[in-house]
Amino acid sequence: MPSEHVILDSRKSFIIEKGVAAGATIDCDKESLSGAVSQRACVYCGARVVLNPITDAVHIVHGPIGCASYTWDIRGSLSSDSEMYRNSFSTDLREKDIIFGGETKLAKAIEEVYSAYHPKIIFVYATCVVGVIGDDVDAVCKLAEQTYNLRVIPVKSPGFTGNKRTGYKMACMALMQLMGDEPHEEKIPYTINYLGDFNLAAEAWIIQKYLREMGIRVISTITGDASYSTLINAPKASYNVVQCAGSMTYLAKQMKKTYGIPFEKVRFLGVDETVKALRKIAYLVGDTKVIERTNALIEREMKKTHERLETYKKKVAGKKAAIYVGGGFKAIALIKQFRNLGMHVVVVGTQTGDSEEYAMIRRLTEDGTVILDDANPSELQKFAMDKQADLLVGGVKERPLAYKLGMAFIDHNHERKHALSGFEGAVNFAKEVDMTLNSPVWHYVKNKNKTI
Ligand code: SF4
Repeated sequence: MPSEHVILDSRKSFIIEKGVAAGATIDCDKESLSGAVSQRACVYCGARVVLNPITDAVHIVHGPIGCASYTWDIRGSLSSDSEMYRNSFSTDLREKDIIFGGETKLAKAIEEVYSAYHPKIIFVYATCVVGVIGDDVDAVCKLAEQTYNLRVIPVKSPGFTGNKRTGYKMACMALMQLMGDEPHEEKIPYTINYLGDFNLAAEAWIIQKYLREMGIRVISTITGDASYSTLINAPKASYNVVQCAGSMTYLAKQMKKTYGIPFEKVRFLGVDETVKALRKIAYLVGDTKVIERTNALIEREMKKTHERLETYKKKVAGKKAAIYVGGGFKAIALIKQFRNLGMHVVVVGTQTGDSEEYAMIRRLTEDGTVILDDANPSELQKFAMDKQADLLVGGVKERPLAYKLGMAFIDHNHERKHALSGFEGAVNFAKEVDMTLNSPVWHYVKNKNKTI
């Protein structure tokens, strides 16, 4: 493993090069190293991205204004109804509040929001400073619930109490609090909840369209395009299907324990994974007619998709890709998509992948691929350049890095405007890979592949 000065000693166990360190395992699922400038988001941010797409909820960020602005409309999740979630509310804590406590300010903020909007549900996020000064957020929320007769749910998310993955868990706990702890024995047949799709560019709607055709009704999409009424009905579903395993497996397990809903993990990224996911759901429901309809849907969509993908493959095959995304499940799906396009994946990293996911990443990658957990910008730069990647796929924080390196970039997260799930998404992805790799702009980039 190369260990130039850019790799801190304490970070070395989080990085491996496939084929070089035979048998070595990668460190993961641990707190970020202080001072290493992790690309990871904080606990609060993790919780906020999960809950934000509950479109008719009010989200109050109890903390300094910076926490709220950091995540304001961070993901452009689409709504089919309310646009309430597009607002960002903050208690804007100042020095005085930190000295005397922020509970009064929080109670006042809830009162103001209630009077102005009459929402059915308010989420209150506790940020770093609230964790430090020790406001009793639970008590304020409980009193507000009684006073205004609405749900006011605390989300315990001080940024320093873990990492983004902890935030996912806090969001899942808040959702369980919303849905309640009553067991629901009676299930509605042919219904599912679709977990872990934030409907960034209408993905949840694409998947719902497939499921409708198969004869399955989605009770709740958790949390893309979710609402108070769909969420409180979620315990009645017959099955849970989990797309983003990192954020939603905890919720699926809790719902299984409390409401007896079995769950399956699926991936709708790329053609192979989409086909596998649809078949998995059809067999989970186990109805012959559902299976027949699913097979017909797959056959029709494959015909439409195959030719289009081949066109793009001719234009991108042989190029090298680097991946740095939030979850391991997404990284795995991306490796498969790049392979199907005839490309080589030379760097793969995630913010929150677990050891099982990294084992799978190792199985799927070629010798020489650098695999890294919880990377920082210097590491990403070093390995992308060492391995001569032509393209980086990441999120909002990786875009400037790629462009400074003179490298093609794909946003697989916050800011994209086209869907990347399902058959349509596979074509959109291939098209974007071609457009960004073969953009004429790269002919004009000076110092390409030189250190910035
Ligand atoms: S919760 Fe803490 S780490 Fe997260 S944005 Fe606010 S201050 Fe920063």
